[in-house]
Amino acid sequence: MRLVQEVHAQIRSLERFVPLLGQAAVDEARTLARGLSEQLAGGVIWNVNSTAVGGGVAEMLHSLLGYARGAGLDVRWLTIGGSPDFFRITKRLHHALHGERGDGSPLDEAAHEVYASNLCRNAVELRELVRPGDVVLLHDPQPAGLAPTLLAAGARVLWRCHIGADETNEDVERGWHFLARYLDGVRTMIFSRETYVPARYRDGRASIIQPSIDAFSAKNIDLDEHTVRSILVHVGILEGPPPPSPRYAFVRSDDTPGRVERSADIIRLGRASAWETPLVVQVSRWDPLKDMIGVLRGFSTMVHNHAAPEVDLVLAGPNVRAVADDPEGPAVFEAVYRAFLEQPPAIRAHVHLAMLPTADVEENAVIVNALQRHAAIVVQKSLHEGFGLTVTEAMWKARPVIASAVGGIQDQIEDGVSGVLLRDPNDLDTFAGELHRVLVDRAFAERIGAAARERVRERFLGVRHLIQYGEIFGRLIA
Ligand code: UDP
Repeated sequence: MRLVQEVHAQIRSLERFVPLLGQAAVDEARTLARGLSEQLAGGVIWNVNSTAVGGGVAEMLHSLLGYARGAGLDVRWLTIGGSPDFFRITKRLHHALHGERGDGSPLDEAAHEVYASNLCRNAVELRELVRPGDVVLLHDPQPAGLAPTLLAAGARVLWRCHIGADETNEDVERGWHFLARYLDGVRTMIFSRETYVPARYRDGRASIIQPSIDAFSAKNIDLDEHTVRSILVHVGILEGPPPPSPRYAFVRSDDTPGRVERSADIIRLGRASAWETPLVVQVSRWDPLKDMIGVLRGFSTMVHNHAAPEVDLVLAGPNVRAVADDPEGPAVFEAVYRAFLEQPPAIRAHVHLAMLPTADVEENAVIVNALQRHAAIVVQKSLHEGFGLTVTEAMWKARPVIASAVGGIQDQIEDGVSGVLLRDPNDLDTFAGELHRVLVDRAFAERIGAAARERVRERFLGVRHLIQYGEIFGRLIA
């Protein structure tokens, strides 16, 4: 089987943004795309990462590439493949750039050997596709090591780093030291925050683009209450007989009908919630940095410390068997499950762990959409976060969000205005207090929810993102 796979991004029209952002913004994006197409003269813009599903990068590529294609650009998406050893090393690098030790395995010459030889096999396949003059945008550490080969083949190479640490430490330095061998020759890099740019690349090559969401994707499109309810009952997160099945539970991005099936391979532990019960929800990959266990313990503390109203917690993430590039998933889920079992029965009765099906990206997305919309509070209690797409998604749905003041989340939420920031994500008493405050003070919850939606409209929708990309590509090709 080939390691390199092409992912099809469905064409989407920018026209949809006119009511949200105005004609001028949409025209600006289109003009840029036209100019780029002419400059490229038949060349292709390739995006390369390691997965088509699960996680923020895949999420953004589906929509940004769709809109770019809709604007007439020849933009394509390739995923690379690798052995479990390769993904163990790239996960180690991912943690390192966040300033964490991960599994602590050495980033030594033996690791270089595994990393580079794996990429070498991918490079052979890539070179059949990429022509001199094409633009190749590599995402994150997994494909970073392809840069030298692609540059040698005459491609214009950019690297986008979606992760980062506000302050450097030994692990961060180790990560950059490892990648330098592959990345030093890349003259254009994109980071999500100024503080994420490592010292060695503060030489004019770095640009900043904040990630965005797609207001019209299955993940974020408006859903009425009936649809939300029916989806959540279908997948078993809400109790009750399935409501009279809507003819179509959701509309796919290519405007064809999609259905959420009860038979979807969802794995649930815990009791389904009643429609009326407020839900505290965190949706994340099963990654230690997302601190699902901390959310569970904080929830438990809230119920213990405060006369909490009837409330349930849902911790949801992808089916760990399905996501190839995240080797930690099964162990992290297992640890969350153990932490769940350690809780007293009175807490367990209010906690729901859900692994969502991933085989159909849009079915997965619409379940997440329904869950976020139904949430009384959306939590993102990450220990590190490059930029939390889940935070923006929930803000767009006008949900009150309680999130850690780490990484890009600090740019997303203004504390007390468009959400609540936790200064110390490990302080469970404060977290529990904030959960309780937002649960009981519904006027505050509504106020921060409404401000959150407006903040996303102004800053975090895809058109702005595309314009920034367009400007960078334009400079690169000029
Ligand atoms: N996500 C999803 N299904 C899941 C878990 C996560 O679709 O079961 C999505 C989530 O909605 C968001 C992305 O994956 O769009 C996660 O992006 P984020 O920036 O929050 O974190 P990352 O996974 O990139 O660290």
